[in-house]
Amino acid sequence: MVKKIAVLTSGGDAPGMNAAIRAVVRAGRSFNLEVIGIHEGYKGLVEAGENYEVMTRRSVTNIIARGGTILGSARLPEFSQHEVRVKGVEQLKEAGIDALIVIGGDGTYAGALRLHELGIKCIGLPGTIDNDIAGTDYTIGFDTCVNTVVEAIDKLRDTCGSHRRCAVVEVMGRYCGDIARAAGLATGAEFIVTNSENNDLQTILDQTKHFKEAGKRHPVIIVTEHLFDVIDLARKIEEYSGMETRATILGHIQRGGTPSCSDRILASRLGLAAVESLMQGVSGVCLGIQSNEIVATPFEDVIGKSKTIYSEFDELIKILS
Ligand code: ADP
Repeated sequence: MVKKIAVLTSGGDAPGMNAAIRAVVRAGRSFNLEVIGIHEGYKGLVEAGENYEVMTRRSVTNIIARGGTILGSARLPEFSQHEVRVKGVEQLKEAGIDALIVIGGDGTYAGALRLHELGIKCIGLPGTIDNDIAGTDYTIGFDTCVNTVVEAIDKLRDTCGSHRRCAVVEVMGRYCGDIARAAGLATGAEFIVTNSENNDLQTILDQTKHFKEAGKRHPVIIVTEHLFDVIDLARKIEEYSGMETRATILGHIQRGGTPSCSDRILASRLGLAAVESLMQGVSGVCLGIQSNEIVATPFEDVIGKSKTIYSEFDELIKILS
């Protein structure tokens, strides 16, 4: 029977991770479980000591509205080595921890799967702004991130409209274009470039020339990261189309900020469900939301798999832009 659980956040941080930690701690305490918060992800798990903090209901007071993660998130590439993970398992056992909830992305799930195979009960929760986790329609942090991007693009539209400029906006979402697509749909962006769509330079240049000829005064082009040097891309668009063009890289601003209502609710539901699952003896799965129902999927079926919810809106985006 599970008596003592731990929770950690790992990989890139995302708004709503704190709401998930709060839900795990409060649900755990409500069921009379001891709850340990592990600081600094798998690095803290292996190093133990002060990284293991006893959590009470009051430890998570007033964090539901805070971005980032109070437990911190570190990367430990060495966690892919068997002996490092065995050391981690020994530390957990020494601390009397029966089960672990990890909040993070694909890499975090890979680490949790290995711990599960070494006999530690593990549940994963999807915490990443990119929405690139299979097994769930939405990840914790995605909604907040899209709202941040939408606010930024609305502001850019104002100034680009005044100066009749084209705006190139780089957003996150290296492996999944959902941030670009959702923000594009919500701001009426003229063109969206993702890892799977429209990412050929000549296509972009021809499109911008077409915008200019069609009399568009301030088109917005959203581009996901790692595809182009967007400063250089803006220069090329300006040369080719004759439209004055400016690039803006939104960068890490997209990771921060007060979590949206949707992210807080998603995180709270998933946090409670994770604790309940561990108490029922479930392990080796990640939880997600599909058609507003909480579902559990084995880590093996999720890790390395891609998904996009918003690609089905590609046609809608094209028609409306
Ligand atoms: P994310 O969880 O957001 O995808 P990372 O890919 O950085 O972020 O992974 C977070 C952490 O998970 C890594 O620093 C590492 O400690 C652990 N991890 C990643 N991949 C593996 C793997 N294949 N095996 C074991 N642990 C891993």
